[in-house]
Amino acid sequence: MTHPAQPKASHFINGEYVEDTAGTPIPVIYAATGEQIATVYAATPAIVEQALSTAKEAQKAWAKMTGTERGRILRRAADIMRERNHDLSVLETYDTGKPLQETLVADATSGADALEYFGGLAASLTGEHIPLGEDWVYTKREALGLCVGIGAWNYPTQIACWKGAPALACGNSMVFKPSETTPLCALKVAEILIEAGAPAGVFNVVQGMGEVGGALVTDPRVDKVSLTGSVPTGKKVYVAAAEGMKHVTMELGGKSPLIIFDDADIDNAVGGAINGNFYSSGQVCSNGTRVFVQKGIKEKFLARLAERTGNAILGDPMDEATSFGPMVTENQMNIVLGYIEKGKEEGARLICGGNRADKDGYFIEPTVFADVTDDMTIAREEIFGPVMSVLDFETEEEVVARANDTEFGLSAGVFTKDFTRAHRVIGNLEACSCFINSYNDAPVEAPFGGVKASGVGRENSKEAIKHFSQVKSVYVRMGDVEAAF
Ligand code: NAD
Repeated sequence: MTHPAQPKASHFINGEYVEDTAGTPIPVIYAATGEQIATVYAATPAIVEQALSTAKEAQKAWAKMTGTERGRILRRAADIMRERNHDLSVLETYDTGKPLQETLVADATSGADALEYFGGLAASLTGEHIPLGEDWVYTKREALGLCVGIGAWNYPTQIACWKGAPALACGNSMVFKPSETTPLCALKVAEILIEAGAPAGVFNVVQGMGEVGGALVTDPRVDKVSLTGSVPTGKKVYVAAAEGMKHVTMELGGKSPLIIFDDADIDNAVGGAINGNFYSSGQVCSNGTRVFVQKGIKEKFLARLAERTGNAILGDPMDEATSFGPMVTENQMNIVLGYIEKGKEEGARLICGGNRADKDGYFIEPTVFADVTDDMTIAREEIFGPVMSVLDFETEEEVVARANDTEFGLSAGVFTKDFTRAHRVIGNLEACSCFINSYNDAPVEAPFGGVKASGVGRENSKEAIKHFSQVKSVYVRMGDVEAAF
């Protein structure tokens, strides 16, 4: 019997499912059991061509609709997503292995928030009037044209919506390529947009690996590329986009600092460290994986952290009591286990976890290392798994310098009761998405993105509009034209 997660076909183009089994088969594996639950086929050149030509054509009429009309469709799609939250969450769990306890509140719901938010903004994308004596200039905010979205595997529904919603609100069309690891959820987003009234062809989904992504990025018809992925992929995609002078948004990796001063509320700080390391089994780009704890509270912090981490419930992700799921793939599990071995070899002190869990599927115990030093591999490289490194510090000046000593700059957090210090420290940290006495909140109203190697551009909030539109400036002369001859 066909598994309920198996989609009707691999791609969604011009308002309908499309299949081409000549493409490379991509098995979809349920991470909690290792069982194959679906197959999709990578896009062939014919599929890529169909998606791009359809999206290019559909964009013209979509951009001519009023913002109110476009916004209404996006907001209707948000309502449909919320109505179907349970089914979409089950699919997200099949796609990623993340526990239903999380997907019910974090995935289709945050996708719906993006559709609703950008649907609400669509009608207000106006220009300005600039008086120049009798003459004047007016500006118009125009769509970029055809946008390509490329997703990572950790938030397949959310990433499709974080890119698709602002792109469509501004009058662009999109061809979205999900990660080959989690290809299922974006198809549902495309289906729902059509059901909500989006014209066929404005949001299309094609499957495939990096090669298909590369074909999309280099096509001359494409005006903008928005990638969520790792820094090495980001560097390649940025170069390829520059070749065609395309706009880019790069949402890349991180190794973010979470700084806990000795006046912090310990339980809140432990909660922040748990949210910043173990949500989605640590597969979150903005995670605060370098937890700097001031020496005075170190042992108290570690004791409470170990106690609370021991309460994680590993198990069947479809059971709503489960609070900690598997790694997305066997390969990712092995990468993370490799980092855990490095941590042990390089002399970090294992506080808890440190092993593959004794279960089917790709589970790793939530792992905490203490006495981590800045030069250790686990403190320098993005692990993308449930491995927290706790580092000691003594002074504010010292911790800020050490926190910034990395190529990454996605997020940063600080826990302290001293608000002057909190704002001063955040002001000195090199990151975009920052938190005071909290960690990993990502409301659609707030800009999200990275500095340094962690990215270019911003998603969410009004900032995202700037990255999916451009300004036209029109000079209007009322009198005669003076010319030299
Ligand atoms: P990845 O870089 O391996 O792949 C990302 C996407 O890029 C995939 O869809 C892949 O098929 C595609 N791709 C690969 N090579 C390509 C090429 N040459 N041209 C075009 N597309 C290509 O990343 P991943 O392993 O799927 O995801 C994990 C990474 O994503 C982590 O580094 C994580 O930090 C990052 N991430 C960042 C954010 C953010 O918003 N900053 C969010 C989630 C994940």
